[in-house]
Amino acid sequence: MKDESGILFILSGPSGVGKGTVRKKLFEEKTDLQYSISMTTRDMRPGEADGVDYFYRSKEDFEQMIENGQLLEYAKYVNNYYGTPRAYVEETLANGKDVFLEIEVQGALQVKKNFPQGVFIFLFPPSLDELKNRIEGRGTESQELVLNRLKEARTEIEMMHAYDYVVVNDDVNLAVDRVKSIIQSEHLRRERVEKQYKKILEAE
Ligand code: 5GP
Repeated sequence: MKDESGILFILSGPSGVGKGTVRKKLFEEKTDLQYSISMTTRDMRPGEADGVDYFYRSKEDFEQMIENGQLLEYAKYVNNYYGTPRAYVEETLANGKDVFLEIEVQGALQVKKNFPQGVFIFLFPPSLDELKNRIEGRGTESQELVLNRLKEARTEIEMMHAYDYVVVNDDVNLAVDRVKSIIQSEHLRRERVEKQYKKILEAE
Protein backbone atom coordinates (compact mmCIF):
# COMPACT_ATOMS: atom_id res chain seq x y z
CA MET A 1 0.00 0.00 0.00
CA LYS A 2 1.16 3.51 -0.81
CA ASP A 3 1.19 6.44 1.64
CA GLU A 4 -1.26 8.43 -0.36
CA SER A 5 -4.36 6.90 -1.89
CA GLY A 6 -5.26 7.56 -5.53
CA ILE A 7 -7.93 9.97 -6.67
CA LEU A 8 -11.30 8.85 -8.00
CA PHE A 9 -12.35 10.83 -11.10
CA ILE A 10 -15.92 10.60 -12.34
CA LEU A 11 -16.81 11.74 -15.85
CA SER A 12 -20.52 12.07 -16.38
CA GLY A 13 -23.11 14.13 -18.22
CA PRO A 14 -26.33 13.90 -20.20
CA SER A 15 -26.90 11.10 -22.64
CA GLY A 16 -25.63 11.93 -26.12
CA VAL A 17 -22.99 14.38 -24.88
CA GLY A 18 -20.06 12.16 -25.94
CA LYS A 19 -18.76 10.78 -22.61
CA GLY A 20 -17.64 7.51 -24.20
CA THR A 21 -15.78 9.27 -27.01
CA VAL A 22 -13.94 11.58 -24.62
CA ARG A 23 -13.04 8.68 -22.32
CA LYS A 24 -11.78 6.50 -25.18
CA LYS A 25 -9.64 9.34 -26.54
CA LEU A 26 -8.21 10.01 -23.09
CA PHE A 27 -7.16 6.37 -22.74
CA GLU A 28 -5.64 6.19 -26.23
CA GLU A 29 -2.71 8.14 -24.85
CA LYS A 30 -0.28 6.83 -22.27
CA THR A 31 -1.77 7.48 -18.87
CA ASP A 32 -1.36 6.44 -15.24
CA LEU A 33 -5.12 6.47 -14.82
CA GLN A 34 -6.86 3.14 -14.31
CA TYR A 35 -10.18 2.77 -16.09
CA SER A 36 -12.81 0.99 -14.04
CA ILE A 37 -14.54 -1.45 -16.40
CA SER A 38 -18.26 -1.42 -15.72
CA MET A 39 -20.61 -4.33 -15.48
CA THR A 40 -23.69 -4.41 -17.71
CA THR A 41 -26.62 -6.61 -18.65
CA ARG A 42 -26.83 -5.19 -22.18
CA ASP A 43 -25.81 -7.28 -25.18
CA MET A 44 -22.28 -7.08 -26.46
CA ARG A 45 -21.99 -4.91 -29.59
CA PRO A 46 -19.82 -5.87 -32.58
CA GLY A 47 -16.22 -5.02 -31.86
CA GLU A 48 -16.65 -5.17 -28.09
CA ALA A 49 -15.10 -7.76 -25.78
CA ASP A 50 -15.92 -9.08 -22.31
CA GLY A 51 -13.52 -7.66 -19.74
CA VAL A 52 -12.42 -4.88 -22.10
CA ASP A 53 -15.45 -2.70 -22.78
CA TYR A 54 -17.65 -4.13 -20.05
CA PHE A 55 -18.13 -7.24 -17.98
CA TYR A 56 -21.27 -8.64 -19.59
CA ARG A 57 -23.44 -10.42 -17.03
CA SER A 58 -26.95 -11.83 -16.77
CA LYS A 59 -29.67 -9.88 -14.99
CA GLU A 60 -29.63 -12.52 -12.21
CA ASP A 61 -25.88 -12.20 -11.65
CA PHE A 62 -26.16 -8.41 -11.66
CA GLU A 63 -28.97 -8.41 -9.11
CA GLN A 64 -26.94 -10.75 -6.92
CA MET A 65 -24.05 -8.26 -7.02
CA ILE A 66 -26.44 -5.48 -5.96
CA GLU A 67 -27.73 -7.61 -3.11
CA ASN A 68 -24.19 -8.43 -1.93
CA GLY A 69 -23.25 -4.75 -1.91
CA GLN A 70 -20.53 -5.40 -4.50
CA LEU A 71 -21.34 -2.35 -6.61
CA LEU A 72 -20.21 1.17 -5.81
CA GLU A 73 -23.16 2.46 -7.83
CA TYR A 74 -25.54 1.17 -10.45
CA ALA A 75 -28.35 2.44 -12.65
CA LYS A 76 -30.94 1.14 -15.01
CA TYR A 77 -30.51 2.79 -18.40
CA VAL A 78 -32.64 1.92 -21.45
CA ASN A 79 -33.84 -1.29 -19.73
CA ASN A 80 -30.38 -2.56 -18.86
CA TYR A 81 -28.33 -2.42 -15.70
CA TYR A 82 -24.94 -0.68 -15.60
CA GLY A 83 -22.75 -0.62 -12.51
CA THR A 84 -19.27 -0.12 -11.08
CA PRO A 85 -17.69 -3.09 -9.27
CA ARG A 86 -16.64 -1.79 -5.86
CA ALA A 87 -13.61 -4.01 -5.12
CA TYR A 88 -11.53 -2.90 -8.12
CA VAL A 89 -12.08 0.79 -7.32
CA GLU A 90 -11.26 0.44 -3.63
CA GLU A 91 -8.18 -1.74 -4.14
CA THR A 92 -6.74 0.41 -6.92
CA LEU A 93 -7.20 3.63 -4.94
CA ALA A 94 -5.63 1.99 -1.87
CA ASN A 95 -2.61 1.13 -4.05
CA GLY A 96 -2.14 4.84 -4.76
CA LYS A 97 -3.46 4.78 -8.31
CA ASP A 98 -6.10 7.08 -9.77
CA VAL A 99 -9.32 5.50 -10.98
CA PHE A 100 -11.50 6.89 -13.76
CA LEU A 101 -15.23 6.20 -14.07
CA GLU A 102 -17.34 7.11 -17.10
CA ILE A 103 -20.96 6.73 -16.05
CA GLU A 104 -24.41 8.26 -16.50
CA VAL A 105 -25.74 10.87 -14.07
CA GLN A 106 -27.86 8.72 -11.73
CA GLY A 107 -24.82 6.61 -10.94
CA ALA A 108 -22.60 9.65 -10.54
CA LEU A 109 -24.97 11.05 -7.90
CA GLN A 110 -24.76 7.76 -5.97
CA VAL A 111 -20.95 7.91 -6.05
CA LYS A 112 -21.17 11.50 -4.80
CA LYS A 113 -23.17 10.25 -1.81
CA ASN A 114 -20.94 7.26 -1.04
CA PHE A 115 -17.60 8.75 -2.03
CA PRO A 116 -17.80 12.57 -1.77
CA GLN A 117 -14.01 12.94 -1.94
CA GLY A 118 -14.17 11.94 -5.63
CA VAL A 119 -13.62 14.56 -8.32
CA PHE A 120 -16.80 15.02 -10.35
CA ILE A 121 -16.52 16.26 -13.92
CA PHE A 122 -19.65 17.18 -15.86
CA LEU A 123 -19.41 16.97 -19.64
CA PHE A 124 -21.54 19.73 -21.11
CA PRO A 125 -23.02 19.82 -24.64
CA PRO A 126 -21.97 22.78 -26.81
CA SER A 127 -25.69 23.55 -27.28
CA LEU A 128 -29.08 21.90 -26.94
CA ASP A 129 -29.37 21.90 -30.75
CA GLU A 130 -26.13 19.97 -30.99
CA LEU A 131 -27.35 17.49 -28.38
CA LYS A 132 -30.58 17.08 -30.35
CA ASN A 133 -28.58 16.36 -33.50
CA ARG A 134 -26.53 13.76 -31.67
CA ILE A 135 -29.56 12.06 -30.15
CA GLU A 136 -31.37 12.10 -33.52
CA GLY A 137 -28.24 10.91 -35.29
CA ARG A 138 -28.19 7.70 -33.28
CA GLY A 139 -30.80 5.98 -35.38
CA THR A 140 -34.28 5.98 -36.71
CA GLU A 141 -35.96 6.82 -33.44
CA SER A 142 -39.47 8.24 -33.42
CA GLN A 143 -39.98 11.97 -32.93
CA GLU A 144 -41.63 11.22 -29.58
CA LEU A 145 -38.65 9.22 -28.34
CA VAL A 146 -36.24 11.95 -29.43
CA LEU A 147 -38.34 14.55 -27.59
CA ASN A 148 -38.38 12.36 -24.47
CA ARG A 149 -34.61 11.90 -24.59
CA LEU A 150 -34.18 15.66 -24.95
CA LYS A 151 -36.45 16.32 -21.98
CA GLU A 152 -34.42 13.80 -20.00
CA ALA A 153 -31.19 15.48 -21.11
CA ARG A 154 -32.49 18.82 -19.80
CA THR A 155 -33.21 17.24 -16.40
CA GLU A 156 -29.75 15.67 -16.44
CA ILE A 157 -28.14 19.03 -17.20
CA GLU A 158 -29.83 20.44 -14.10
CA MET A 159 -27.83 17.93 -12.04
CA MET A 160 -24.69 19.85 -12.90
CA HIS A 161 -24.80 21.55 -9.48
CA ALA A 162 -23.50 18.36 -7.82
CA TYR A 163 -20.23 18.46 -9.80
CA ASP A 164 -16.83 20.07 -9.20
CA TYR A 165 -15.91 20.86 -12.81
CA VAL A 166 -17.73 21.49 -16.06
CA VAL A 167 -16.10 20.67 -19.39
CA VAL A 168 -17.81 21.64 -22.63
CA ASN A 169 -17.52 19.03 -25.35
CA ASP A 170 -17.32 21.39 -28.32
CA ASP A 171 -14.29 19.50 -29.65
CA VAL A 172 -13.16 16.08 -28.43
CA ASN A 173 -9.45 16.91 -28.32
CA LEU A 174 -10.07 20.12 -26.41
CA ALA A 175 -12.40 18.34 -23.99
CA VAL A 176 -9.71 15.68 -23.36
CA ASP A 177 -7.12 18.42 -22.72
CA ARG A 178 -9.46 20.07 -20.22
CA VAL A 179 -10.01 16.78 -18.39
CA LYS A 180 -6.25 16.17 -18.29
CA SER A 181 -5.63 19.61 -16.80
CA ILE A 182 -8.21 18.92 -14.08
CA ILE A 183 -6.41 15.67 -13.23
CA GLN A 184 -3.08 17.47 -13.07
CA SER A 185 -4.44 20.26 -10.88
CA GLU A 186 -6.07 17.86 -8.47
CA HIS A 187 -2.66 16.29 -7.87
CA LEU A 188 -1.27 19.70 -6.91
CA ARG A 189 -3.89 20.46 -4.27
CA ARG A 190 -2.29 21.67 -1.09
CA GLU A 191 -3.94 18.94 1.03
CA ARG A 192 -2.33 16.28 -1.14
CA VAL A 193 1.20 17.65 -1.40
CA GLU A 194 1.57 19.30 2.00
CA LYS A 195 2.79 16.17 3.81
CA GLN A 196 5.55 15.59 1.30
CA TYR A 197 6.81 19.19 1.57
CA LYS A 198 6.62 19.11 5.36
CA LYS A 199 8.91 16.07 5.27
CA ILE A 200 11.47 18.14 3.36
CA LEU A 201 11.32 20.87 6.02
CA GLU A 202 11.68 18.31 8.81
CA ALA A 203 14.74 16.82 7.14
CA GLU A 204 16.57 20.20 7.24
P1 5GP B 1 -23.54 2.18 -23.69
O1 5GP B 1 -24.60 1.13 -23.62
O2 5GP B 1 -23.75 3.11 -24.86
O3 5GP B 1 -22.16 1.58 -23.66
O4 5GP B 1 -23.65 3.07 -22.37
C1 5GP B 1 -24.84 3.69 -22.02
C2 5GP B 1 -24.65 4.64 -20.84
O5 5GP B 1 -24.26 3.92 -19.67
C3 5GP B 1 -23.54 5.69 -21.05
O6 5GP B 1 -24.10 6.95 -20.68
C4 5GP B 1 -22.46 5.29 -20.09
O7 5GP B 1 -21.76 6.43 -19.59
C5 5GP B 1 -23.27 4.64 -18.99
N1 5GP B 1 -22.49 3.72 -18.15
C6 5GP B 1 -21.49 2.90 -18.52
N2 5GP B 1 -21.03 2.21 -17.46
C7 5GP B 1 -21.74 2.62 -16.38
C8 5GP B 1 -21.72 2.28 -14.99
O8 5GP B 1 -20.93 1.47 -14.50
N3 5GP B 1 -22.62 2.90 -14.20
C9 5GP B 1 -23.52 3.82 -14.68
N4 5GP B 1 -24.33 4.38 -13.80
N5 5GP B 1 -23.56 4.15 -15.97
C10 5GP B 1 -22.69 3.57 -16.82
